[in-house]
Parts: sequence; C-alpha cells; structure tokens
Amino acid sequence: DAMLELSGITKGYNRGKPAEVVVLRGATVTVAKGEVVALVAPSGAGKSTLLHIAGLLDVADEGTVRLDGREMSGLSDRARTEARRAEVGFIYQFHHLLPEFSALENVVIPQLANGVPKAQAEARARDLLDRVGVAARADHRPAALSGGEQQRVAFCRALANGPKLLLADEPTGNLDPATSDQVFGVLMALVRETGLSALIATHNMELAGRMDRVVRLAQGRVEG
Ligand code: ADP
Ligand code: ADP
Repeated sequence: DAMLELSGITKGYNRGKPAEVVVLRGATVTVAKGEVVALVAPSGAGKSTLLHIAGLLDVADEGTVRLDGREMSGLSDRARTEARRAEVGFIYQFHHLLPEFSALENVVIPQLANGVPKAQAEARARDLLDRVGVAARADHRPAALSGGEQQRVAFCRALANGPKLLLADEPTGNLDPATSDQVFGVLMALVRETGLSALIATHNMELAGRMDRVVRLAQGRVEG
C-alpha cells in the first residue's frame, strides 16, 4: 500500500519566458506505508522542487500526487494547505526554528495552529523532546542549543501534528560527520517508532544505505 505516489511529475520555472527551465520531466516515485526512501540527486537536479510538490507546497505542471490514496492535484489552495498541515512533516538542512521561542514552544506552536488544546500540545511536545534526548533543553531558545540539538527539536516540530508522511531535505547536512551520524540514528529511531513513511534527500551514501531503498533523480526523472 502506498503512502505517497508521485506519477509523471513535470515542473518548470518561468514557463513561456526566455529564462524557462524545465526541472522535472515525468518523475515517478512511490513511498510505501512505513517505508523510508532515500532520494539521491546531484545539486540542482530538482530535489527541493520534487519534495515541495510531494509536500503540497508547490503544484506540478503535469502529473499526479496521491497521499494515502487521496488524489491531491485537484484540491483548492485552502484544502491543499490544510492537508499539508495535518498530514506532512518537513525537515530542512537548517532548523528554521523560531528564535524568540523555546524548544518546547517551537513544538507546541504548530499543534496550536492545528487546533490542539494547549495542555495536550505541551504534553506531546515534552514526550517528543524526551524521545530525541533533548527534554532537558525544553525551556531554552534555539540559539542556546548545539546544532545537533537544534535538528532534534526540528524533528519534533515536524512530527508534532502526527503527520502521515515525513519529507526531509539533507536533514543532517549542516552537522559534522560524527554528529550527523548520531542525529540521523535518532531520526530513524523516531520514524520507525511512529511507523512513519519518509522521503529523505541526502548526498551521503552511507546514510542512504541505512534507509529501506534508494532512488536517484537525474535529468528530471527518477530511477530505482
Ligand atoms: P536541488 O534541490 O536538487 O538543488 P532545486 O529543486 O532547488 O534543486 O532546483 C532545480 C533547478 O530549478 C535549479 O536549476 C534551480 O536554479 C531552478 N529553480 C528552482 N527554483 C526556481 C525558481 N523559483 N525560479 C526559477 N528557477 C528555479
Ligand atoms: P503555519 O501553520 O505555521 O502557517 P504552513 O502551513 O505555512 O505553517 O506550513 C506548514 C509546513 O510547511 C511547515 O513545516 C513549514 O515549515 C512548511 N513550509 C511552509 N511554507 C514553506 C515554503 N515556502 N518553503 C518550505 N517550507 C514551507
């Protein structure tokens, strides 16, 4: 059973203008339920574009996006935003935590935006922070945390609303090799515990090898 089905995705920028660039040319990717897939691509190949389309942040020119069996292509902007907030978690190379809020608040805020009562949101945030080993830093602002701790908090934020699908773009790419290795282990454990389906872009073949399957994006198409 598929959690994510991207089929025949075509996407270009500046369509019809001199600066037109076609990035995706019929890309097809499936992530099964509970599967963790590595997306490996050279820089500029369209990895971020593909992840944004998969995560309902951007719309393909052609092709279909199915999330948990539901066709997303025809949705209104509002319905797409709602589906994204409730069903997709994002992790980036840089944590993008809100600097003026504590680690805990950074994990609470997306839940409040999703209609979760405050006490329940805080309990869930504490549980998530505990599971990734940063419970002791809950009341600190991001700037007070190490790079690895910041990414762990970003993982908790991505999982805060219990998404069905996790999309990650070089989730440990900003960390030194030893920290990257360790923090990636934390992420994989969290994903496995929650039974999440994930598409994780990385240049690191060692990390790719720790996932269930590797797909490669090149010339706008996906292999493997
Ligand atoms: P990757 O994540 O693999 O590095 P991207 O998906 O960010 O690749 O970008 C793929 C290509 O599309 C690049 O050539 C990039 O310059 C171009 N591109 C990305 N976003 C835009 C945009 N908003 N307008 C024009 N070109 C873009
Ligand atoms: P909020 O509920 O705070 O308004 P959004 O619905 O805008 O959040 O975003 C939901 C998720 O999508 C968040 O994880 C956010 O980081 C991500 N996101 C939103 N807009 C963008 C964007 N332009 N590029 C990358 N990620 C984005």
